Amino acid sequence: MTEPAPGRVDMAKLVSLCQRRGFIFPSSEIYGGLSSCWDYGPLGVELKQNIKQAWWRAVVRERDDMVGLDASILMHPRTWEASGHLKGFADPLVECKSCHLRWRSDELKGNGCPSCGGELTEPHLFNLMFKTFIGPIEEQASVVYLRPETAQGMFVNFENVVNTSRKRLPFGMAQIGKAFRNEITTGNFIFRCREFEQMEIEFFVRPETDKRWFDYWIEERTNWYVKLGIKKENLRLRQHSQEELAHYAKECYDIDYLFPMGWAELEGIANRGDFDLVQHSSFSGKSLSYYDEETKEHITPYIIEPSAGVDRSFLAFLCDAYGEDVVEGGPRVVLHFHPDLAPIKVAVLPLSRRENLVSLAKEVYADLRRNWMVNYDDAQSIGRRYRRQDEIGTPFCVTIDFQSLEDKQVTIRERDSLNQIRVPISELKATLQAKLEGEDLFVLPPGGQIWKEEKT
Ligand code: ATP
Repeated sequence: MTEPAPGRVDMAKLVSLCQRRGFIFPSSEIYGGLSSCWDYGPLGVELKQNIKQAWWRAVVRERDDMVGLDASILMHPRTWEASGHLKGFADPLVECKSCHLRWRSDELKGNGCPSCGGELTEPHLFNLMFKTFIGPIEEQASVVYLRPETAQGMFVNFENVVNTSRKRLPFGMAQIGKAFRNEITTGNFIFRCREFEQMEIEFFVRPETDKRWFDYWIEERTNWYVKLGIKKENLRLRQHSQEELAHYAKECYDIDYLFPMGWAELEGIANRGDFDLVQHSSFSGKSLSYYDEETKEHITPYIIEPSAGVDRSFLAFLCDAYGEDVVEGGPRVVLHFHPDLAPIKVAVLPLSRRENLVSLAKEVYADLRRNWMVNYDDAQSIGRRYRRQDEIGTPFCVTIDFQSLEDKQVTIRERDSLNQIRVPISELKATLQAKLEGEDLFVLPPGGQIWKEEKT
């Protein structure tokens, strides 16, 4: 991590908002919490789900050259010998508190980090992987590990997927799942957790095309964040130096985000060459090559790996969405989430709790919730209810007033522009659908009219 970022939203504000509004709680809080473990609350789970869905849609559903996988967290222990995780993490390690590079303390000359000169932690003789036992007997033969990355599940299933999906090179696998690392340096809220979720792609290519696909995925993945609302100026690409490169990587770039504490990795994109398939072939004794119909040759594909974190993406989307402004003379905290990510898409707000209004509002609510996550709120003034929805990032509020009983029209109020339009209830769903899909212009269906031009 580098210097703190001036002008960025304060992390303490985000933590407090997340806790106050039910996005994220400390794990097992009633017992004092558990270090670097977090629980996602009612709104957090929706946002997280939406991030995963947006990723899956972009990298699996909308592509012909990708398939999904959900491998188990516990894997055969030989996996971690082949991957290098067992050996690589079994030494006494110190970690740089600034750039997070880890060093064998017995090989260090001097006190500071050899890469950036930063302060080092005390040496820890432990493996980064969480160890546990399979079956009832705690003995060496039954040791298994909680996976520290989802990637290995995809490498070991290479042959299964090639044989069953009938995909030809280049093609990839995508997986979302939990990973566990007994991190030495933790902190910065959900940026570095001991239990977290990854969204990983392993893209298999002909060796001579690796550079092209590497560049392709860097661009593709960067654009994904931008399309979902992250400002370009808050993203940067950083190439790994030779010393920093992981043992498996030929080349690696990080997509960094300007977090409240400074620039830090959001996603890593590595050219892993043929390291993984060669290693697993040699450790398992199974050939993991690919028969190329065109050249009639067996080849070992190279792998391009874009590896993203769900929790870090969550934090980045949250930081980028956060805003404070003044509305109707009062301060407002607002999350400008992209509609695809917003935990609640629409809030239905009857102007009063009068019986006839409530029953119409409940009808509208019941209909809308068949399509989206919708909130119903009839407590307190309409202004306070708008503020509540702004603070959790709800893009649209639908207000039902006494006029609605007469003309069967309701008001849609937009979170960002604060514009309000009046639409017939019969056109409400179609209008909201268009707006949630990013329609900028007001959709004025037959019979619809601008209800009020001034801002709320
Ligand atoms: P860092 O250097 O920040 O520890 P890393 O280089 O070890 O990260 P990778 O092994 O490349 O991370 O993992 C891929 C992605 O998984 C990261 O870009 C990040 O989004 C996520 N990730 C990794 N470790 C953690 C963690 N402890 N907590 C939350 N997310 C993580």
